[in-house]
Amino acid sequence: LKSLLKNPELLATKAYIGGQWVDGDNGTFAVTNPARGDVIAEVADLSRAQVAGAIAQAEAAQKEWAQYTGKERAAIMRRWYDLMMVNAEDLGRILTAEQGKPLAEAVGEVAYGASFIEFFAEEAKRIYGETIPGHQRDKRIMVLKQPIGVAASITPWNFPNAMITRKAGPALAAGCAFVARPAAETPLSALVLAVLAEQAGIPAGVFNVVPSSRASEIGKEFCENPGVRKLTFTGSTEVGRILLKQAADQVMKCSMELGGNAPFIVFDDADLDAAVEGAMMCKFRNNGQTCVCANRIYVQAGVYDAFAAKLKVAVENLKVGDGLTAGTTTGPLINADAVEKVKEHIEDVATKGGAILTGGLPHDLGGTFFQPTVMTGVTQDMKVAQEETFGPLAPLFKFDTVDEVIHMANDTIFGLAAYFYAKDLSRVYKVAEALEYGIIGVNTGIISTEVAPFGGIKQSGLGREGSHHGIEDYLEMKYICMSV
Ligand code: ADP
Repeated sequence: LKSLLKNPELLATKAYIGGQWVDGDNGTFAVTNPARGDVIAEVADLSRAQVAGAIAQAEAAQKEWAQYTGKERAAIMRRWYDLMMVNAEDLGRILTAEQGKPLAEAVGEVAYGASFIEFFAEEAKRIYGETIPGHQRDKRIMVLKQPIGVAASITPWNFPNAMITRKAGPALAAGCAFVARPAAETPLSALVLAVLAEQAGIPAGVFNVVPSSRASEIGKEFCENPGVRKLTFTGSTEVGRILLKQAADQVMKCSMELGGNAPFIVFDDADLDAAVEGAMMCKFRNNGQTCVCANRIYVQAGVYDAFAAKLKVAVENLKVGDGLTAGTTTGPLINADAVEKVKEHIEDVATKGGAILTGGLPHDLGGTFFQPTVMTGVTQDMKVAQEETFGPLAPLFKFDTVDEVIHMANDTIFGLAAYFYAKDLSRVYKVAEALEYGIIGVNTGIISTEVAPFGGIKQSGLGREGSHHGIEDYLEMKYICMSV
């Protein structure tokens, strides 16, 4: 991997704690390239005690960092952002090597990830408090916004860069210190952020990365250590529930970006070509491995066959391969379990009466490569209606009326993203209001941006990331009542 980088020094394999590069008490764990199955790095495997040490260092550093002016924090964060952009190609290569997504997508993720550092660096100067007219003649009321303290993050492998910057950006801007435990599949993209943080002059202990293969032990330390005041997690609803229960003992503030089960609805007045393009981006980006990926595609009866035919053509144009090979649009799945889940959903649809329009099998390339798949005749009693596939399966459901599709779309415990294509203005308003989701894409399949509040309702999570709202999750409100 080093030989692929313009700057080989960006490849770090030790933990970064208190401004020091540290070996793991538990030795190392291996990071593999999902496209080839070969080991590309051995990364420091930290013990729970080492993570406790990192929290202590972060606590000490946070007190000083909180004293910086917003403008001072912004200047340092801006340098961090600039370094991410200057090195975007290398960060992308590291990301593709450990995660599998095509290089262009990986570089896109790096720019997207960096945008949160840029945006929140700017926000650091705008953490406004409030004055409130007193309730008695001698009373003056003031509201301060102060950093929560140390924020700890647990993040998944599907966006190894952006899931961390989306949290670290607002945390650092607010004056919090940050301890990141990246997914064991993709620690290199987290560690390179630490390399650049050091270069940017982020003070020692303010940004720490603690790789460890022992997720649940580290999760317990984060929840039980009184030095941590905020837990921020992106991952499955299942693990989110465990963490919320654990965090309850300390009544810790939590942000949770959990699973989705996004409906993608095509009404009969939709621009079908645009709908196909949107479906391709939102279903097959990252090979279907995003929490806002279309999981259920509902198509109105009048355009069902036409949409299916166009989607088939687009899907058959995808080029599956190693993400580092030019022209690849679709990489491997992250691991064998991910392949099993896709197979399970395909088999379930097939046995309950659905049909394969294209794909449906493991790819000839072997490993965890899988054929991009479209299935028709999919109904609400099938597994894919309730569970996230997290892979390259586009299941097409048929519907007749608006009320019917709203009911089907909302019939899930999840509420992250939903999409629909329609032109009739009154329908657009009514459907957007009726969908029980935190994010709605209307006539677009791409909704992620640092300037908007990203997050789910129902069992898809708590809190919002991005936008001026995103920093609130890292701030405490303090009210001062003064008698004059
Ligand atoms: P995914 O399917 O995206 O891997 P998970 O929720 O399983 O979603 O994992 C998200 C992150 O949470 C990963 O970094 C994983 O290692 C971590 N994790 C898994 N189980 C636990 C746990 N019990 N406590 C803390 N972290 C966990």
